[in-house]
Amino acid sequence: MTGIGHLKATAKRIVYVSGALTAFRRFRPATLTSVMFHRVLPPDDPRAKTADPAYTVSLETFEQCLDAMADWYEPVALEDVENACLGRSKLPRNALLVTFDDGWEDTARYAVPALQARGIPCVIFISTGAIGQENVPWRDVVACAWRAGTLALPPGRPATTDPLTSLLDWLDSLPDDERAKTLEKAIEAAGQTERPLMMSPQSLRQLADDGVGLGGHGTNHIPLTAIADPEQEFHDCRTEFERLTGRVPTSFAFPHGLYAPPMLQTVQRAGFKFTFTSDKHLNPLHQGAPTSPVFGRIFISEERVTDDNGGLCREKLAYWLTLQPVMSLS
Ligand SMILES: [Zn+2]
Repeated sequence: MTGIGHLKATAKRIVYVSGALTAFRRFRPATLTSVMFHRVLPPDDPRAKTADPAYTVSLETFEQCLDAMADWYEPVALEDVENACLGRSKLPRNALLVTFDDGWEDTARYAVPALQARGIPCVIFISTGAIGQENVPWRDVVACAWRAGTLALPPGRPATTDPLTSLLDWLDSLPDDERAKTLEKAIEAAGQTERPLMMSPQSLRQLADDGVGLGGHGTNHIPLTAIADPEQEFHDCRTEFERLTGRVPTSFAFPHGLYAPPMLQTVQRAGFKFTFTSDKHLNPLHQGAPTSPVFGRIFISEERVTDDNGGLCREKLAYWLTLQPVMSLS
């Protein structure tokens, strides 16, 4: 095929695919699509070199995602979702909620301004113990250093489960100061010393004052399935969230997306009326209201939505967002 022939075929395919997707969206039930991002960094930010690529999108890809999603959906705020759950208002049939996890400094520096420039609301789930800290929550440091090859089990200590879990189990067994020293060395060896990583308390307070949606994401980003008393963890996260933001939190997203079904009740008892998992599904709406206060989210990574040249592939993004199951958890 000639170059022009190839271009024509590609253009035709894109028209076909977007037409088919439009029809598909029109005839599928009304849904809330909640998308999940972590880090957003332009390539010239020094922190981009050491950010985990699985959890990072470039600023350019992020902006292109926002433009595409604004063409296909009606973005809503966390408050709109909560009001719809409480019967106070209705969501549009093609609603989109943009979410972030953890409280990275780059979320405040790059992602929020890009959203504000387009009038798209978002919600940031904050791991309260990470705010203003030098290092990311330590389990995440372990994963980064392990991937960089600067942290491993000591010789003679056999892996009991998978390598990363065994490493975490070993570090768990160390006294706090010894663990901190071990991790500090591993971070330095991995060259992960660009700072700041997490938002400062001032920057978080500014977001709260600007009306940006905020929710809880645990205190120290430890999976709730690894915590003896999840109820205490919800309580501590809530108290710290109130101190940091001056707001009462209503929503919670599970760190690492990990939870056990009974926690869906525990988290509600602790005052978080609305819960966000990392389960990959779209959320059905009935007469403009979500059918459950527990929401699935679709994870977006650079690799998932870009083509070989690195730019956003709208077709890939459209497929990824649309062809997900519609289901409800209660
Ligand atoms: Zn997280």
